[in-house]
Amino acid sequence: MNIFVFSDSMALMVELLGGARELAGNGSVAAIVIGSESQAQQAIAVGADVVYWLGEQGNWMVDDFVPTIAKILADQKPNVLIAGATIRGKAVVGRAAAALDTVAITNAKEIRSIDGSLLLSRMIYGGGAVTVQRATGDLLITTVGPGQFAAVAADQSRDGEIVPIERIEPVIKITKLESKPKQTGSSNIYAAKRVVAVGRGFAEKADLQLARELAAALDAELGYTRPVTEGTPPFAEGEPYIGVSGIQIKPDLYLAVGVSGQTQHVIGVNEAKIIVCINNEPKALMFRHSDYGIVGDLYEVLPELTKALKGV
Ligand SMILES: Cc1cc2nc3c(=O)[nH]c(=O)nc-3n(C[C@H](O)[C@H](O)[C@H](O)COP(=O)(O)OP(=O)(O)OC[C@H]3O[C@@H](n4cnc5c(N)ncnc54)[C@H](O)[C@@H]3O)c2cc1C
Repeated sequence: MNIFVFSDSMALMVELLGGARELAGNGSVAAIVIGSESQAQQAIAVGADVVYWLGEQGNWMVDDFVPTIAKILADQKPNVLIAGATIRGKAVVGRAAAALDTVAITNAKEIRSIDGSLLLSRMIYGGGAVTVQRATGDLLITTVGPGQFAAVAADQSRDGEIVPIERIEPVIKITKLESKPKQTGSSNIYAAKRVVAVGRGFAEKADLQLARELAAALDAELGYTRPVTEGTPPFAEGEPYIGVSGIQIKPDLYLAVGVSGQTQHVIGVNEAKIIVCINNEPKALMFRHSDYGIVGDLYEVLPELTKALKGV
């Protein structure tokens, strides 16, 4: 099997290449890289046999690369394109699929190769069910988010070929007028072994300080439910939220505070090793998903827990 990988996020590309390598078996894995030459080399170190190198992004938008990517796929005819399920990644492969008169199946949770055909699992009905789809065309285009595949350790001595690709100017090019860094926290939630999740049980934005203190005592990162990041007003705007439409993580410890435990949220963390919750409502769904639970008011429990963890 001949698998191509594309992502505008290099961190995600590394994971996708790990998964592609496993799926490909004795087949080949190629990466489509927009970035520096050292990033192209990094793609080889973590699993690509060939890198189609489109050069630095410069003043182009990722979307402007669609005609170039579609041409690579048309010329090279891979069996599969696995793209990073980022906002730009989905936009690019959706348009590339349309250009090639095929479809893109987004947000795969699992891709399996059985008897030469590919089976792809993805969640539907807001995470209430999983559908398994079989690819029937010549080219399967799909997107996969972070945390689904394990990256392989980089091996700088791996052999691989970098093929520089001339960009095709899109018919309608987007003009970038300005770029500014996105206002997000310094969360490293994907790599975190421990996560404290903030739910709508926190009454005020300022109260999140209680969660920050608990997270610091636990050496944990903060995660959020969707209403906390996107509600009105948002308490943690721009921060990652966990769930079916957010991120999926697999920490060793997940401590949900003031989180009700709706499926759409829990689906993003149900592979955590240990789940603990703190909720003042004994019938909250979150208790059913938890290994341990504390029934109590977070405003009383959190300061005590933080104090106990700090040993003061
Ligand atoms: C299509 C779709 C996709 C969605 N995708 C996502 C997603 O990806 N991620 C996501 O998170 N949500 C998602 N949602 C929303 C989801 O259904 C829930 O509404 C959301 O997860 C609830 O967030 P919450 O638990 O913070 O708030 P609530 O449901 O309001 O729960 C708050 C909890 O805090 C408890 N509480 C209140 N006060 C205290 C206190 N003082 N001490 C202790 N506990 C207290 C309450 O008992 C309650 O259980 C989606 C919904 C839809 C329809």
